[in-house]
Amino acid sequence: MHKDIFDKIIVFFEGIRQQTGEYLYFEEMPKQYEAVPVPPTTKTGSQTSKEPQESIIIMEEKKTEEIRQPIQLSASPILLDEKVLPDWDRAKSLDELYNKIKDCQKCPLGMTRTKFVFGEGNPNADIMVIGEAPGADEDMQGRPFVGRAGQLLTKILESVGFERKDVFIGNINKCRPPGNRVPAKNEVEACEPFLLKQIELIRPKFILALGLTAANTLLKSNYKMGDIRGKLFDYNGIQTLVTYHPAALLRNPSWKKPVWEDMKLLRKLYDESIEKSKKE
Ligand code: SF4
Repeated sequence: MHKDIFDKIIVFFEGIRQQTGEYLYFEEMPKQYEAVPVPPTTKTGSQTSKEPQESIIIMEEKKTEEIRQPIQLSASPILLDEKVLPDWDRAKSLDELYNKIKDCQKCPLGMTRTKFVFGEGNPNADIMVIGEAPGADEDMQGRPFVGRAGQLLTKILESVGFERKDVFIGNINKCRPPGNRVPAKNEVEACEPFLLKQIELIRPKFILALGLTAANTLLKSNYKMGDIRGKLFDYNGIQTLVTYHPAALLRNPSWKKPVWEDMKLLRKLYDESIEKSKKE
């Protein structure tokens, strides 16, 4: 009973976050949502030594379905032992880029991740789907959008005739923020150049940004969802559409209709671009 009420409150506040892009804070953050301590600057031991038990991850995922709190970290990126090959930005292919950045420790998320999530799909995709950051399932598997939200994304794509293998799916951040919190500004700034390089290599015709974090990071803006969904943006010559993140859709099924409209628009624009290229 209490959980039902709590879930409704969460849906309400998550709705506000998705609509307005503003975050709500407790005056005093509950203990279970406190920031993960910043790790030591020198990495010791293997990553597997700090991998949590699966049961713990499931509990953690459940908690974060309830509340996702942005955690304030330092204003500038905390540069650890970066472990990114210095010539990463000269990579000529996605495989090469992956190998140059897969051990990245440029921001604190590198210390808390289980697996680096590069993204996957067609390296020559016409459509790139970009979300916020990996969740618990993605962190465990090293693949993007494989949890419940990912399964919903697959269905959303299929509803307008796209398959996952047709598109490239990635995130702004390649490592999971602890507790699925919103990535901090310094973490986004540290990771975004990798996404830009992926976009440069794939050269998609369209970008579908899922949720406000992805949209506002790409568009360098502070839009509210109501301002931008259903509209077309030019992102460095790439037609960019914004819709709700599937995780938000799981919490608020009433957003299915606007997502459906956004996807139909994407399909229409895609078909028109194919027709146009046939005539050229
Ligand atoms: S989130 Fe990005 S910048 Fe931070 S450690 Fe992971 S790959 Fe590096």
